[in-house]
Amino acid sequence: EETPNRREAHRTFRRAASRALFFRRDWMQSTSRRHHVVVGSGIAGVCCAKELRRCCPEDAITLVSATDTCKHVQDVVRVTDHLERFKVAEAGVNELETLGIDVAKGFACGLDAKKKVLQLQGGQAIQYSKMCICTGGRPKKILEHPRILTVRDTDSVISLCNCLKTARRILLVGNGGIALDVASSLVHLKVTWVMKHGHIGDAFFDRDAAEFLFQCLRFGKRNLQTVEKFELAGAEDRTTPMQGRGESPAMPSKVAGQAVGPKWSRILETVHGVADDKKGPNLASFNLEIVREAEIADVLLQHNDPEAPEDGFPVTVQLTNGDTYGVDYIISATGIVPNADWISKEDLKKGRNGNLLVNRTMQTTAPDVYAAGDVVECDSSWSQDGTHWFQMRLWSQAKQMGTHAAQCMAGVGTPEALGFNFELFTHVTKFAGKKVVLLGLYNGQNLDESEEGDMVTYCRSGDPRTEGDAATFVRVLLYRGRMQGAVLIGDTDLEEVFENLILDRLDLSAFGPSLLDPRIELDAIFD
Ligand SMILES: Cc1cc2nc3c(=O)[nH]c(=O)nc-3n(C[C@H](O)[C@H](O)[C@H](O)COP(=O)(O)OP(=O)(O)OC[C@H]3O[C@@H](n4cnc5c(N)ncnc54)[C@H](O)[C@@H]3O)c2cc1C
Repeated sequence: EETPNRREAHRTFRRAASRALFFRRDWMQSTSRRHHVVVGSGIAGVCCAKELRRCCPEDAITLVSATDTCKHVQDVVRVTDHLERFKVAEAGVNELETLGIDVAKGFACGLDAKKKVLQLQGGQAIQYSKMCICTGGRPKKILEHPRILTVRDTDSVISLCNCLKTARRILLVGNGGIALDVASSLVHLKVTWVMKHGHIGDAFFDRDAAEFLFQCLRFGKRNLQTVEKFELAGAEDRTTPMQGRGESPAMPSKVAGQAVGPKWSRILETVHGVADDKKGPNLASFNLEIVREAEIADVLLQHNDPEAPEDGFPVTVQLTNGDTYGVDYIISATGIVPNADWISKEDLKKGRNGNLLVNRTMQTTAPDVYAAGDVVECDSSWSQDGTHWFQMRLWSQAKQMGTHAAQCMAGVGTPEALGFNFELFTHVTKFAGKKVVLLGLYNGQNLDESEEGDMVTYCRSGDPRTEGDAATFVRVLLYRGRMQGAVLIGDTDLEEVFENLILDRLDLSAFGPSLLDPRIELDAIFD
């Protein structure tokens, strides 16, 4: 008998899952009304609240929002079975009320897990049946000072752009996705990019992929383009920061709004700054200096007022390699800290960095308290043998986790659904103007304990200098002959076939490096 292929199996599973949801819904309609509370109006919180509304039509749902706005997922495009692209839009949080979700504007400041009461600043207390905490994170800061900038929400991007309009030189510190975005977007400013690692984008890429991207940054056509205008989602009428505006409750200044949406960094391409002699805009096209294996040793802020002096630079930075730089601003992109300090460790167990620990059904250590998105750390139950998924704080995972948490709260989140959503890590993004697809354990994540000889990588790299924007990069990682992950940069069109090769766990040893030979018909392997 012919075994159904993977895609058909997934379709069958989806049909079965939606039938299961339907029966559950019937059953729930006969039970008494419960009150579910979601805290936080970023992607995780909004996806959770909407999914709860869908799964529990009879129950009351309240979303606690610290801001007047919330983030929505829009225009989802399925690239492969596990990989999707979508837009992140900003909207007024009150719009959720039209969907039957109550909105409580407020800032959560305490939790009594035994009595099931959430405390808001200002004294309001909310009783819940089940609660999901989706309070995200905020950027780590080296120092609190107007010349040290960070990025998290739409307001912070707007104020960054305003500051940089008069900047001559800036120093960027950090090496994750945000630093990569800033470095590849600030094409008209003199940027010194300081990182403690030996190559760019250490959080995402190995040395080869990083070198390829660096060459794309250097030789890609986009460096010569001038983007004059780019609208940032949610920024249309934003002249003053959201916090404290309108009817929003006062929010502690260290908590930002929701993280920005995709393409946020394109607005940075419109920022020219001024030339060193301050005579006009800086129009040079590649002003990036990269300082590897160094960290900030000391920051000297010569002028405490935010106005730049006539000459000289207001900030002097000393690096651990002994170099000194005079700059107008430091952009700090060194990671985030979770917005979980309003919850005590006694109430909910936390991970090393203060994130809320959750199990595979998104439950924290307190009964009926769930959590999702950037605020969580997946506990050890997630790293089961054979999974090709790992946690990375991304839009796609905030969406997946928020939705999955709601299904688990509603009692319809099955282990099969968990396997389906979380069996393969996937991420599609753009760096240096190139499409980047990351699949599975592409950098050997979760494979630390494996024998080195069991692991092999094959790589095929184009040359951005001669091929320009058509250059592509492909790198795969195999463990004992089975593909574990892949990095695809540029238009390779390989995401679907590689996704299937990873999930089907076929032994590919016989192919060796020819696996990446463009003349090989990879689809034929499945026959
Ligand atoms: C600049 C930047 C660029 C990024 N680029 C990418 C990218 O290219 N691709 C990608 O996949 N991901 C990217 N990310 C990551 C992605 O944005 C996050 O993983 C995702 O948005 C997290 O969603 P969340 O809902 O968990 O948290 P958030 O979006 O942070 O939302 C948390 C919400 O909780 C609220 N809140 C906090 N504390 C409280 C409280 N005590 N009471 C009530 N409300 C509270 C906040 O105001 C906010 O509304 C980027 C992030 C940033 C900052």
